[in-house]
Formats: sequence, C-alpha cells, structure tokens
Amino acid sequence: MERVYIGLGSNLAEPAEQLREALKALAQLPQTALSGVSSFYVSDSLLPGQPRYTNAVAALDTGLAPLALLDALQGVENGQGRERLERWGPRTLDLDILLFGDRLIDEPRLKVPHYHMHARAFVLYPLAELAPGLILADGRALDNLLAACPFEGLERLPG
Ligand code: ATP
Ligand code: MG
Ligand code: MG
Repeated sequence: MERVYIGLGSNLAEPAEQLREALKALAQLPQTALSGVSSFYVSDSLLPGQPRYTNAVAALDTGLAPLALLDALQGVENGQGRERLERWGPRTLDLDILLFGDRLIDEPRLKVPHYHMHARAFVLYPLAELAPGLILADGRALDNLLAACPFEGLERLPG
C-alpha cells in the first residue's frame, strides 16, 4: 500500500455536496482505504467570472498503480457529471493526484507531484492538516511551500 494525497475541488452544483459524494466514492475504490480528509476550504476562482471553489485534500492508502488510480479518479469525476468544455473551466468535480508515495512520475497522462500544487493555497493548507512537516518526494518541504504561499483568500469551513 502506498500513501496518496488527492486534491478535490468543485465550483458547480452544490460544491460541498460534490466533495462529500466524491469522498464516498474514494472510500469504495478497489484496493484502497480512505485514511484521512481535511477540512473544506472555500476560495475565489483563480480565473475571473467563475463561482467560488470548495476544496479539500484526502489521504488514501492504495494498492492501485498510479495510472489505474488516475483512471478510477476520472471515472468518479465523470460519474459526477464532469464536463471538459474549456481548460480550467468550472467543474462539478476535480480529483488531482498530488503525491503518490515517494514516487516521481512524469508520464504524458500523469505528473506527480502535481505540477502546480506549490502555488495553490487551497491545496497546501488542507494537505498540511493531514501531513504536517511532510517532505515531498522531490525533496521540497511542505513547510517551505506554505511559507511562500499566503493563506489569504482561503476560508476554512467549520466541521
Ligand atoms: P490542473 O491540472 O491545472 O489542476 P485540471 O485539474 O482542471 O487542471 P483536468 O482537466 O482535470 O485539469 O486534467 C487534465 C489532464 O491532466 C488529465 O487528463 C490527466 O491526464 C492530466 N494529469 C497530469 N498529471 C495529473 C495529476 N497529478 N493528477 C490528475 N491529472 C493529471
Ligand atoms: Mg486540478
Ligand atoms: Mg484535474
């Protein structure tokens, strides 16, 4: 089993409900346990004119291979009505593989660590709830990434 961190995001169709549905689906993936879930966080879209996003991070322990997990995650996205009309368009559900054990993956369909996680407060702060003090597979320290990425603009939801 390897520890994997998944970034969840939604800004359509009751975003918090989309995340709760997705967590149920993650818990039911084969060879996989849902081992932790961060708080939910709300923030403005990085692109103007989109609804606000709700984001969270989940920890999985999985025996699935990376591309098999990606396929499964895309199946969950599609099952919750994800449409890909424009890059970075609004979406019912986005499931990104942030980290996969201590692997560095550079394949056409899958880059891990996720290429932009270092610049996304809505990824780093929930990840830090689950994995304080984490050192990424490429040697970067989560604490250093947090220090360079202000919390400003994030709202942590209670519960
Ligand atoms: P961003 O990648 O900037 O967060 P996005 O999540 O909206 O944007 P998607 O449309 O969900 O992008 O995914 C586009 C493609 O990214 C997917 O088809 C997938 O093959 C690829 N991809 C590469 N690395 C990853 C990763 N670590 N997790 C999920 N998808 C990835
Ligand atoms: Mg994404
Ligand atoms: Mg994605």
